[in-house]
Amino acid sequence: MIETLNNPFMLNSLNETAHFNKNWQQQLAEAFSSIDDLCKYLHLEIKDLPVSLAAASNFPLRVPLSFAASIKKGDINDPLLRQILPINDELQLYPGFSSDPVGDLPSAIQTGVLHKYHGRTLLINTGSCAINCRYCFRRNFPYGELQLNKHSENASIEYIAKQPEITEVILSGGDPLTLSDTRLNTLIQKLSTINHLKRIRIHSRLPIVLPARITQELINTLHDCGKQIVLIVHCNHANEINTRVKTALIQLKSEGFTLFNQAVLLKGVNDNAEVLCKLSEELFELGVIPYYLHLLDKASGTGHFEVPEATGIALIKALQIRLPGYLVPKLVKEQAGEKSKQLININ
Ligand SMILES: *Cc1c(COP(=O)(O)O)cnc(C)c1O
Ligand code: SF4
Repeated sequence: MIETLNNPFMLNSLNETAHFNKNWQQQLAEAFSSIDDLCKYLHLEIKDLPVSLAAASNFPLRVPLSFAASIKKGDINDPLLRQILPINDELQLYPGFSSDPVGDLPSAIQTGVLHKYHGRTLLINTGSCAINCRYCFRRNFPYGELQLNKHSENASIEYIAKQPEITEVILSGGDPLTLSDTRLNTLIQKLSTINHLKRIRIHSRLPIVLPARITQELINTLHDCGKQIVLIVHCNHANEINTRVKTALIQLKSEGFTLFNQAVLLKGVNDNAEVLCKLSEELFELGVIPYYLHLLDKASGTGHFEVPEATGIALIKALQIRLPGYLVPKLVKEQAGEKSKQLININ
């Protein structure tokens, strides 16, 4: 894990600017990890909020300033705040919610390698994230045992090299872009030597929550590997797209990478046709195609975010009326043990 320093400063716009001039590692180190500091910054009184210290001790608060700066000050119902604030509802038990809702553990072939779906293999390179999303399906994941380290990383490359039907490697996590440029470069260089591999696909929330991560060095690493690069960002609400995010996405697009978005349908965040329309429109303006709208994976602690499948279907129907087909994401859910994600029938 990357250590999060206690946010040492009370922010004003001057040191906010200074913060955004720092490199991404420094910005990450200064991410909020204290509910007190975050609430002061957002002009919120803890006593007005259903904050839970027990929930925070299960899964700590973590939010970079770049994301926190997009939360509306003083608004306890802000859709971005809801994604990151540890609250009492997380301690509520909901039937059907468990610690491994998508069946990751049975599909782990060897340390850090999940080979569930044909042609695609997913590598868990790190358990670290820049932000802790309260709805995360891997919030209970045993990263300590399963994530790749330098030794098992070589074993994972050998595994892929031996299987000619694997055409795509998915770097996942945690968030693979929390890896240092050096480590990422080494990994991608190794993958680039595998001839049957066509694409490297990166699933990351960093372009949205810590856009300073999109450095020239990263872009060079991605360009130099000789494989097609597909970047799947993870944005749930148009309010997440601030000017820093816009700059990062436009840069990635102009460098020729294919960009998709994956969102999770979340109660109180984006379970609303207008919000989802705006998300699709704003992403596409930046060159990002809406790919999936995921129903929530039933991980313990996330039950209060659940939106019924029927509501998901109604929302997609509303989007179909309002948007061109290519801006309507596919509504999907993950079902443990199935051979692909399940596309939900809209008609
Ligand atoms: C989601 C997922 C994939 C990729 O599925 P797509 O439908 O291609 O997006 C691959 N492997 C695992 C383990 C996954 O969870
Ligand atoms: S960035 Fe992704 S993996 Fe990390 S906490 Fe958020 S949802 Fe989970």
